[in-house]
Amino acid sequence: MKIHQLYENSEPVISLEVFPPKKESGLHTLQTMLEQVKTIQPAYISVTYGAGGTSVSNQTLEIAQMLKKTQGIEPLHHLTCIGKSKDELQKILAEIKAAGIENLLVLRGDLPETDQTCVSDFPLAKDLIAFAKQEGDFSIAAACYPEGHIEQASDQENFDHLKAKQAAGADFFISQLFFHNDSFYRMVEGARKAGVTVPIAAGIMPIMSRTQVEKMIFMCGASLPSKLIKLIHRYEQQPEALRQAALEYALAQCEDLIAHGVDGIHLYSMNQPVVAKTVLQHLRGGHACN
Ligand code: FAD
Repeated sequence: MKIHQLYENSEPVISLEVFPPKKESGLHTLQTMLEQVKTIQPAYISVTYGAGGTSVSNQTLEIAQMLKKTQGIEPLHHLTCIGKSKDELQKILAEIKAAGIENLLVLRGDLPETDQTCVSDFPLAKDLIAFAKQEGDFSIAAACYPEGHIEQASDQENFDHLKAKQAAGADFFISQLFFHNDSFYRMVEGARKAGVTVPIAAGIMPIMSRTQVEKMIFMCGASLPSKLIKLIHRYEQQPEALRQAALEYALAQCEDLIAHGVDGIHLYSMNQPVVAKTVLQHLRGGHACN
């Protein structure tokens, strides 16, 4: 199944992101989460690839295959091009295709901290998007940034780059996490004016702790509204209460997005069963969703 076709319906598409766990115990938590969301299936699940500086293994492909074969959930396999040669990527794409995976989220990847000039046969995501389209009949997603990418100078650049990814073959976009819905609405408006016509899904992440959110915002440049900062301050010593308040904040964000006719919501589940189940149940219960 080609994921971009799901966005042709009028209801918002609700999807999840998971990451390959580093430890055996993490695999168990991921399996628990997948069991719990089975009955309230997300439209698809994306699986990260070497994100946050973790070493790349074939776990992304293993998890994507497991989702498709044993869970009956369509996987979206993330793939990055930074630091890889054309030959390596050709081989990886052939393996993904041979495994029956039809959907890719194509990314550049973060520059290694030790080598910010890291060269690659495909320096930008758009270059790998065009190559992947040529190598297989993939449905391709790309990343977009409501508050701009951390290395980028102007808003206009943001829109021009989205247009270039669409021209290269991106069939839909998934956004970076954000906590101000207005920044997402502004990006969508600017992208549409610039000629981006493909669906744009909103990336939502319920925060889990102060440490986690500090790390995330420094990595991706997302800003925190004062309402959320106050919640973090109020519940800093009560982790459960903080998680609950943050989950409610994320649910309110989702409801507002749906009321504004968003194409889709992509939930950064952080492999947390409670987060995935609560958000999916809430969205399925209150609204008609794909
Ligand atoms: P690009 O689109 O190539 O952009 C990179 C930089 O170049 C930006 O500053 C951009 O403004 C600029 N640029 C883009 N196009 C042009 C152009 N035509 N001309 C000139 N400059 C241009 N990382 C991982 O390692 N693994 C993952 O699994 C992963 N999953 C992600 C999922 C989502 C939804 C998002 C939003 C991000 C994810 N990332 C992941 C992080 C991502 O790899 C980084 O944000 C990375 O720094 C940029 O990737 P990109 O695909 O947006 O790059």
